[in-house]
Parts: sequence; structure tokens; C-alpha cells
Amino acid sequence: MNMHAPKFLDTGRWGGMAYISEWQEALGGTINVTDPANGNVLAAVGFCGVADVQRAAAQARAAQSAWAKTQPSTRAAILNRAADLLEQNGAELASWVMQESGSIHAKAMIEIEHGALFIRHAASLAMQPSGMFLPGMDDRTNYARRVPHGVVGVISPFNFPLVLSVRSIAAAIALGNTVVHKPDPRTPISGGIIIARIFEEAGLPKGVLHVVPGGAEAGEALCSDPNIAMVSFTGSARGGAKVGEVCGRNLKRVQLELGGKNALVILDDADLDIAASNAAWGAFLHQGQICMATGLILVDEKIEQGLTDRLVAKAQHLPAGDPSTQQVALGPIISDAQVEMIQKIVDDAVAKGAKLLAGGTHDGRFYTATVLSGVKPGMLAFEEEIFGPVACITSFKTDDEAVSLANRSDYGLAAGVISADLGRAMALGDQLNVGQLHINDQTINGGPYAPFGGRGKSGNGTRVGGPADIEEFTQWQWVSVKNAATPYPF
Ligand code: NAD
Repeated sequence: MNMHAPKFLDTGRWGGMAYISEWQEALGGTINVTDPANGNVLAAVGFCGVADVQRAAAQARAAQSAWAKTQPSTRAAILNRAADLLEQNGAELASWVMQESGSIHAKAMIEIEHGALFIRHAASLAMQPSGMFLPGMDDRTNYARRVPHGVVGVISPFNFPLVLSVRSIAAAIALGNTVVHKPDPRTPISGGIIIARIFEEAGLPKGVLHVVPGGAEAGEALCSDPNIAMVSFTGSARGGAKVGEVCGRNLKRVQLELGGKNALVILDDADLDIAASNAAWGAFLHQGQICMATGLILVDEKIEQGLTDRLVAKAQHLPAGDPSTQQVALGPIISDAQVEMIQKIVDDAVAKGAKLLAGGTHDGRFYTATVLSGVKPGMLAFEEEIFGPVACITSFKTDDEAVSLANRSDYGLAAGVISADLGRAMALGDQLNVGQLHINDQTINGGPYAPFGGRGKSGNGTRVGGPADIEEFTQWQWVSVKNAATPYPF
């Protein structure tokens, strides 16, 4: 390897800057991005305020009609080149993802690989048929076609910053929209800078994509800016409610992809080793900081002890530490405030009678894999999305009780059911109020070909990915054509 080869993400090009048609200083100044594992400053990026969002939105609006007129094959080629660049530079880019978001290497590589897959899927959307002829109403020709909304504002969270940003950005761009994207200010590099760099290098015309790292104020500016037609938001239910409110007031279309409290139901005929492995992956991957994390392990009381023993043994063998310097299973939690929130939820469960069987402690940002049994309705651990590495076990006596426990949640994102009897698992799964149901699997599943989203507090019924992207990122336009204008009665 040539040690002097220029790096793809050379900070000399983007350090301290935002991407508003090109790399430039933000009017809002700069912000340091730190590694949550050790507090080291990784780089500075431009910190955008309202004025930056406004100028990005105006430039995106000015660029949109020309972009929408480009050949679909041109758009697809640019997208595919961007996916190539993400893959080709995957090792370098994954190390940024690891350091910025506290990811272990495997999770960072999932972001690179899925990021590229989402972009390639988007490229294929550009080539899809986009309309239909309608039944005749008189002697005119009627057809309906899908047209882009205009400018799409994208707002993304810290936990899977690359994938959760690029899945909306790529689909919106592929379908002829331009984009102003606001990543979380804690993860603007994986959630924004990397994406701007791959599209810049892939030849995306200036003005089509803007990346404006900033906080809630910048996010709200996207929701009220008259140049922005739609907002695609991924984040917490609280943030989503605010975004929905501001977009509603400004009559904007809004896509809300929010949190979850996802149940994994394990029936009494399940293989215990496999079920425990599923539960551990679902509860502990990325320290539980995943919207689809297994938030509740509902287990038939006949196998509760066996499942619990296996899960505790796994938790005790999952080391937590700095993933950039050690081989660990769990990296850091994103912030001290989030560590405190996790501890509060664990302490509340123990105070209300749950048993702490593993973990329950932390060394700074490193929270140990934790197992609570006897988790019951009324405990925060039962009701709330934890966003920490906490496996919450609740037992049930009958399949019907499992359904009612799973459906108690206001959220409705994902669920899993594990059983040796496929028909029984599917009959139970059919009764769960969720946007995605996984039979014989845990709850963390995603990919570009499936429509992803939730019910209830997990969203507003929108979906991202697969066939949903055309529904979400375009709208119908009815076109009627008479051969010549004809007179009316007056
Ligand atoms: P968050 O809502 O605090 O922040 C998400 C993004 O919204 C950030 O970019 C933030 O700056 C911005 N934001 C916050 N308040 C805003 C406002 N009032 N107006 C506009 N923008 C605003 O979420 P978080 O805590 O960073 O992320 C974790 C949450 O995201 C969890 O609840 C998780 O379940 C959810 N999530 C959902 C999905 C999904 O696809 N359904 C995926 C990942 C994460």
C-alpha cells in the first residue's frame, strides 16, 4: 500500500466547512466533532444556522428543474459511481464511522455495504416507468405521471448516520429532486461529509446536494423554508412530533421514521441456543442504539430459565471498550446524558422488582451488556425505548398473552417471533401491530428493497426503501391533452 496516497476524506478539502453547492464556510461558524470513546477531536465541520439553510434551500430550488430534466440513465450512472466510491474507499471511510459514532468494525462495515446498496437501489428507481394512461373521460387523452416534489430536506440521527442519511438522499435525487441534508451535529462526517464527497467525486452537478450540519434550529428551518417541498426525518418520536408540527403548519409533505420498542417473542418450542443468540444480537448490537433494537424479550415461562441463563452467559462475555483500539463487542454510548438515561431506566426497573442478572454498570461512556428479568408493565424498562445495551426479559403463559404484551407499546416499528412451528409463529405474528415482522429472526433487519417504517408512535405511516421510495419522493400529476382547444357554453 502506498502510505503517501492521498486520502479520499482528506480534511484539507472539507475541514471546518459545510457543503452548500461547494465546500465553503458556514455563516454559523464551526463545530468540533469528537470520538465518543475518548473525547478526541476528529475534525471540525461548518455549523449551519437558519441563514445557511435558507441559502442552501434557495440554491437547491434553483438547480432542481434542470436536474429533473437530466436523462434517467445519467442520474443512475452518477449514483452508481457514488456507490462504487463508497465501496472502494470502504476501509478508510469505515474508520471514520467507527470513531465518530462509537461503532465496532462490523457495524461500520454494515453502514458502508448497506449505504452502497441503498444508492444502487436508488439508481434503479431512476429507470422505472413513471406513469399510466387513464380511462378516457371524453375525447381527450389522460395520463398521470409521477413528478418530483422539488427540494427535499433530509434530517438524520447519530446512530446509523451514513445509511439513514443516504437512504433518503439517494432516492430523492434519483427521482429528480434536489436535497438539503442536515445530519446530526454529533455525526456530521459519516452522516454528511462522506456523502457529499462521494457524490461530488461521482460528478453530481453543483446545487443538487447540500450538506448543512447543524442542530434542531437548522432542522426546524428546513421544515419552514418556502423553497423546501418535503422533509424526510429519521429520529426520535419527540423530534418527529416537532418536525411534523412545523411541516404541517407550513403545508409540507413529511416522512417521519421514528423510534421503537420492539418485541422479540420466543415460543416454548424454540431452540434455546439460537433464540439466546438472536436476543443478544437484537439487544446489544451497537450498544442497543438502534431504532429496531430488541427492546423487549417476551419468552414463554416454560423456557424462561434456560433462555435467561444463556443470555446472561453471553452478556458476561461481551466486552465494552474503545472499538478503534481494542477488539470489543460494545463501543461507547453516544453521550454522558444518554448513559445517565440508561442508568435511570435500569435503576427504576430494579427498584420496582426486576432482577439485575448481568451488567447494570458503566465505566464512563462504556455501558456493560445488561440483562434484566421480571420486567413488567409500569417499569420504564418495559415502556420506554432505552437506546442502551439492556436486554429486558418478560415471561408469558400463553401465545395470546404474548400478543397483548407486545401490542401494549405505543410504538409499532418491528417485531420478531421465534418458534419451531412456522404456522404458529406466523399466526402470532399476524396479530402484532408493527411495520415490519420477522419470523424466526430478531428485530434488527433492514435493506434497500423493503419498505421500512412503523405504526403508532414509530412514524406517520410513511415508509422508506423498496417500492415505497417512488410513492414517497414523487407525487402524481394528471395531464389531459385535447388535440385542439374547444369552446365552452360561456
Ligand atoms: P433526535 O430526534 O434527537 O435527532 C434526530 C435528528 O433530528 C438530528 O439531526 C437532530 O439534530 C434533529 N432534530 C432534533 N430536534 C429537531 C427539531 N425540533 N426540528 C428539526 N430537527 C430536529 O433523535 P436521536 O436521539 O438523535 O436519534 C435516536 C432516535 O432516532 C431514536 O428514537 C431512534 O429509535 C430513532 N431512529 C429511528 C429510525 C427509523 O428508521 N425509524 C432509525 C434510527 C433512529
